[in-house]
Amino acid sequence: METIQTFTSELSILEISYLVASVLFILGLKKLSHPATARAGNLWAAAGMGAAILFTILFHQKDGQPIGNILWIVVALAIGSFIGWYASVKVKMTAMPQMVSIFNGMGGACAALISLMEFPKMQDHLASLPVPAANMLGGEGIAILLGLMIGGVSFAGSMIAFGKLDGRIGDIKHPILRVVNLSFLVVLLVALFVILFMEPVAGNNLPIYLFAIAALIYGVTFVMPIGGADMPVVISLLNSFTGVAAAMGGFLYGNQAMLTGGILVGSSGTILTILMCKAMNRSLMNVIIGAFGVAGAAGTEAEDKTVKEISLSDAAVLLSYSQKIFIVPGYGLAVAQAQHLCHELDNLLAGKGVEVKYAIHPVAGRMPGHMNVLLAEADVPYEKLVEMEDANNEMGNTDVVIVIGANDVVNPAAEDDPSSPIYGMPIIKALDAKNVIVMKRSMAAGYAAIPNNLFYHPKNRMLFGDAKATLQKLVAEIKSL
Ligand code: NDP
Repeated sequence: METIQTFTSELSILEISYLVASVLFILGLKKLSHPATARAGNLWAAAGMGAAILFTILFHQKDGQPIGNILWIVVALAIGSFIGWYASVKVKMTAMPQMVSIFNGMGGACAALISLMEFPKMQDHLASLPVPAANMLGGEGIAILLGLMIGGVSFAGSMIAFGKLDGRIGDIKHPILRVVNLSFLVVLLVALFVILFMEPVAGNNLPIYLFAIAALIYGVTFVMPIGGADMPVVISLLNSFTGVAAAMGGFLYGNQAMLTGGILVGSSGTILTILMCKAMNRSLMNVIIGAFGVAGAAGTEAEDKTVKEISLSDAAVLLSYSQKIFIVPGYGLAVAQAQHLCHELDNLLAGKGVEVKYAIHPVAGRMPGHMNVLLAEADVPYEKLVEMEDANNEMGNTDVVIVIGANDVVNPAAEDDPSSPIYGMPIIKALDAKNVIVMKRSMAAGYAAIPNNLFYHPKNRMLFGDAKATLQKLVAEIKSL
């Protein structure tokens, strides 16, 4: 009697802790949707996960016994936490997408490993029943195989995405890869059904290992042809895969915190994927079949044109006597780490009565929300950040657009060159303003590796140099006016 009561109360505490964790995940996610509350949201969700882990270690029981291997668990947690902490402290802002890819891949690998561990146990159990089961079909079998398939694809795909973002792996765009890709998907799905309908035989683990290898290969062939500006969408998609794979683990173990966490990651990753596709005006299918950046890209007619430069003093005068200015931040601003100087310029001009706002393109930089995070780091008030569509509506009555380290997100080829690989992607319409100043170091292309005719437009003048150094000089020049 005593044992049953203890068991019940401990189980109740555990279930309640999962419920609290799930609520914290949801509230944390809600808070993540606004920059002002995002940091707190992250901590709330982390507290939920911390509580779920702690209470599982303390109160989870198997066959009436508490979980063992506490030392192993604590050591693994300590190593994992240290690596996570160290990586997040050391990572450069511009390398965040790579880190997200690796961390996401680890989530997928964990989900796949759970399935690899649980499948043999389930198979042995089904084979040992007095009347052995006829096949592996059932909720648990499906959850295990889907967890392995989706987790494996997510792991391998995320590692390739990491390699690509880090410049270690190039795009392989041969059309044959699409056939290979599709063939592996078919093989994987057929294998899934074959294993589900297989008769359980104790110790027969070869099929599941082959299935895991096929999932890994498909993960590689899935991401390999995708490149250029489509990478952010892929990372977000892989993120949702990891969520779904984790949810499978939650379903398998009847663990509500894992299930809720997985579903939240899966659904928010899917929503983000759709939003990013919309922001780039591309269908998900178009992204997945890897149509971006195919050889023969357009925009090459830039060669014969001349580029006008602007001197620092002219730029200082133009900006100081403007009424309304939009700053378009891009990846180069993050590379130069010039966000604080950018804010200083904005304050300086605001002090002179100029209205200064930031036009934020959804895929500027190298990760979703990159510019928001970058500018928040420099304490730029959130109210000054204007979303692309709204900014475009205001461009007509803007005196100057200052493009700082941005390129693809202001490339007019997206609007007027149907042969361009970025054709159809919404851009910030800098040319609708009266003047444009572009700050960058050279005429080099951006992430999409295509020329930009904005630089040659009569309305535009280039202010060449590293964004930080240029902004430093520009601020000094304006102060001296
Ligand atoms: P781009 O990559 O198009 O251009 C950045 C520009 O910054 C370059 O042309 C470079 O020119 C300039 N630059 C680099 N370093 C410096 C520096 N120190 N000082 C001044 N300028 C510098 O950036 P955008 O933000 O316009 O566009 C983002 C691109 O990345 C899009 O194609 C997007 O699809 C893609 N992408 C976005 C992700 C996301 O989630 N946001 C993730 C992955 C890719 P120069 O060398 O001449 O200085």
